[in-house]
Amino acid sequence: MDLDAFFAAVEQRDHPELRGRPVVVGGGGGQDQRGVVSAASYEARRFGVHSAMPLRAAAALCPDAVFLPVDGPKYAAVSRQVMAILRRYTPRVEQLSIDEAFLDVTGSEALFGPPETIAASIKSAIRGELGLTASVGVAATRLVAKVASDLRKPDGLVVVAPGEEAAFLAPLPIARLWGVGEKTRVALAEFGVRTIGDLAAIPPDALRRRFGEHGAQLAERARGIDASAVAEPQDAKSISHEHTFEVDTSDREVIERTLLGLSEGVAARLRAAGLRAGTVAVKVRDSEFSTHTRQRVLAEPTDLADPIWRTSVELARPLLHGVRVRLLGVAARNLGAPSQLALFAAADEDRRRRAVEAVDAIRRRFGARALTRARLLDADVPEPFERDPDRLRDDDPKPPLGTG
Ligand SMILES: [Mg+2]
Repeated sequence: MDLDAFFAAVEQRDHPELRGRPVVVGGGGGQDQRGVVSAASYEARRFGVHSAMPLRAAAALCPDAVFLPVDGPKYAAVSRQVMAILRRYTPRVEQLSIDEAFLDVTGSEALFGPPETIAASIKSAIRGELGLTASVGVAATRLVAKVASDLRKPDGLVVVAPGEEAAFLAPLPIARLWGVGEKTRVALAEFGVRTIGDLAAIPPDALRRRFGEHGAQLAERARGIDASAVAEPQDAKSISHEHTFEVDTSDREVIERTLLGLSEGVAARLRAAGLRAGTVAVKVRDSEFSTHTRQRVLAEPTDLADPIWRTSVELARPLLHGVRVRLLGVAARNLGAPSQLALFAAADEDRRRRAVEAVDAIRRRFGARALTRARLLDADVPEPFERDPDRLRDDDPKPPLGTG
């Protein structure tokens, strides 16, 4: 399930005079045109406005658009209402971002009917109770459901029958395949790959030689193969990301860079959920499989990567003496809504937040790897919004949220 033009749709719902008009949500709103578009209504998209575009460019394309600031707490509250509707149909709801979720309805058919009936019922509940439209994809795997949900926006409902995955994907442009970013798309173009079917036709061995492990994964994805299960639900007690190294390491640079990537992922999930962390924890597992965790209460709750990263580096440092690290984890705990009284906000807090909102908007549109810190280039760290398969075997609580 993926809501349509979410932030803009909420504003049009709450301000009837904006319905049918181009609405652009982003930055500080009004005359302030720094920052980027976080969401554009479909009326604005007709002018070529899209998310992650600079607000100035959007204003040039569509001068009559209504520009509104990002109201994070409001969108987070509506998001919680949407997720509550989804949980009526199954407890197996995995929230992927502020406006997207996977549902495993395997056990729900006796009560609610076949999956396409459940999908239609969810769409009408969201429309009737919350005044918003959602697009839903129904399929036997997360991967294909995700692609299907995106195909007929807005207000779409696309059902892919089991066994039809490869045939469904084949004619679609390669950019539609979840997990294929711009860099991979360009590299695949050298192979003459334009559609997902072109990719599926390449022998998996050739893809592995050219793209390594990612290539093997691409070959499977192109056929709609995705064994990942919808994540088990859990309370929002913590949000954590982990990374297992292919080869155990004691390289401080690699360790700090990995902690940065994990902190970025955790911070992005906090922002998508409208939460801040009061406590940061790290987990270090060494080559002997002994696991150590340390945590610290922050002076000021945060949803930014930098303080989470700096704290995690300090916490990890004493755990690293003479060990080779197998796994690193960063967790945000002690979660709460942002305080109304930001008395101690740093002078540059506003600028920093604007930059972070711009990054979030770009990643929502172009994927988690679209924008990264120079320090993380070529680093072997997981995508912020994709689950680390290793965590499925881990005793750590799984994060309730992601975004993309
Ligand atoms: Mg959406």
